[in-house]
Amino acid sequence: MAANGSSPGSIQVGIVGAGVAGLAAAIALRRIGHDVEVFERSEFRNENGAAVSIPPNGGRILKRWGFDSQKSGGIENIQVRRPKGDTLEPMAPTLNFSNVEQLYGDKWYFYHRVDMHKHLRELAEAAGAVIRLGQRVDDVEIETGIIHLKGGATVQKDLVIVADGQHDRINSKVTGVEIPMKRSGQTAYRCLIPMKDILADEETKFFFENQPPGFWAPALPAKGVMAVTYPCRNNEILNVLAVHRKLGQHAGSKEEDIVIDDWNFPATHEDLEKVLDGFHPAVKKMFLKSPEVKVYTQMKREPLSRMTRGKTLLIGDASHPMLLTHAQGVSSSIEDAAALEVFLADIPASKGVAEGPSDKLAQRLAEFEAFRLPRLSATQILTDPVVPGPQAAANYAKQEAEIRKYYAGPLPPTGSMPHSPPICQFFFAYDVRKEALQALEEAKDSLRQRATSIATVMASVPEDQLPPVKNVNGQPQTPVVESSAERKRVSLLEKKVNDLESKLAALMSKVEGGSS
Ligand SMILES: Cc1cc2nc3c(=O)[nH]c(=O)nc-3n(C[C@H](O)[C@H](O)[C@H](O)COP(=O)(O)OP(=O)(O)OC[C@H]3O[C@@H](n4cnc5c(N)ncnc54)[C@H](O)[C@@H]3O)c2cc1C
Repeated sequence: MAANGSSPGSIQVGIVGAGVAGLAAAIALRRIGHDVEVFERSEFRNENGAAVSIPPNGGRILKRWGFDSQKSGGIENIQVRRPKGDTLEPMAPTLNFSNVEQLYGDKWYFYHRVDMHKHLRELAEAAGAVIRLGQRVDDVEIETGIIHLKGGATVQKDLVIVADGQHDRINSKVTGVEIPMKRSGQTAYRCLIPMKDILADEETKFFFENQPPGFWAPALPAKGVMAVTYPCRNNEILNVLAVHRKLGQHAGSKEEDIVIDDWNFPATHEDLEKVLDGFHPAVKKMFLKSPEVKVYTQMKREPLSRMTRGKTLLIGDASHPMLLTHAQGVSSSIEDAAALEVFLADIPASKGVAEGPSDKLAQRLAEFEAFRLPRLSATQILTDPVVPGPQAAANYAKQEAEIRKYYAGPLPPTGSMPHSPPICQFFFAYDVRKEALQALEEAKDSLRQRATSIATVMASVPEDQLPPVKNVNGQPQTPVVESSAERKRVSLLEKKVNDLESKLAALMSKVEGGSS
């Protein structure tokens, strides 16, 4: 039975994972009337995670969907300060982002991930998505759309959207190859510090007192350590991410090669203190105020060759995990969903989930992939930071050459630094909805052109060589055929025109949005 009560023109969609990508896709697909059921392994009893940064390219989509940034405790990013970690003198000029809305049409917000995720879930449920918690998906049959749930139950859908995060295992069934996650070379220590504790301390309050909110990022490049801090939850919490280029000894482990893939793996204050070796005492004092320290190994993966096969589509981190460099992980997942809202808006109604995908659904999934994959691949590669040093120029050139294997569009100049105007222009000015509407129009135009070419070929056939005109005044017409050679020629022509006619009919039905 349909999860939400199908509306005319709707298909039944199963979504694996209720993270940001899964919930965003649920909202987008409900907005265009599809039937959505989300399967999430967690019960969301102890939701956690640190803060997330959502620049205008993600924010403008959320706004369109009715996301309330105030309700979610959103804090605007106004500036980026980059002091030296030891002396606290400026290492680079402060960047001013107070004009981000004028430049890119929306604000740049920081949220606590839990607040943001909770509001997305409310929006998805209010839109009519059914979210089933505590339902782990063990497997997906990608051609048939059958979802296997833990415990043995199965559900079949017209379309399965896999949004189960960076540890997803289904992607190899879509691409046909195993592409393992690789160590990025960065270990991230995370803290959430009550802002009131920082402001109550004479030694630490000057970092933020009377300062507009934003990134404050002290670094010791020679030691390979960079801390990124920003406020969230109505400025009540300071989110800290201390990224270490070499692996630390996590939670007392002597194992240098350990990979921690749990966002909430506990570390100790001693671990963090070791990472902060050489930082100004006030920075250490501030970070060590955090009640808890967490650690994880930042992983990366090269771009996948496909996002879709059969009745299955990969989105979010399952498709394109990326590092934090340009704050695009969350926003690119939201962009995936916004593009789906465009590409799946005029799919014919489900003829039953046991059927294969309709031609039009298959065509639109292929068009979605052709639209999204090149840009996502470029973004994934761009977010893998180039380490400063004598090799930097050569490595930037290598990075660009790698991007060009996937993406032919405009890029920021080689070597552009994070937060620099060309990087902001590339990411923040990108309006995925506008681009998707244009890409879809171009795809339709190309179909129309093919249909016109077929019609032109048909028109070039001399009238006396055309096959019988069918159904004139309800009566089929038969041509007068004199000789067997002529009969053969007419029959060949008849077949050719019939083939062309059926191709034209199929193309026109796709162009005009008819059922296939
Ligand atoms: C608990 C948590 C904390 C995070 N904290 C941070 C953070 O501090 N900073 C940051 O930048 N990013 C964080 N992220 C990642 C960030 O949210 C994502 O990179 C981004 O939002 C893209 O989201 P996604 O939906 O593709 O993946 P995710 O946000 O990882 O969501 C995937 C969802 O799928 C569910 N799932 C996984 N496997 C299955 C299965 N087999 N069956 C059913 N459901 C399944 C997971 O429980 C999860 O809810 C966190 C993610 C999680 C899950």
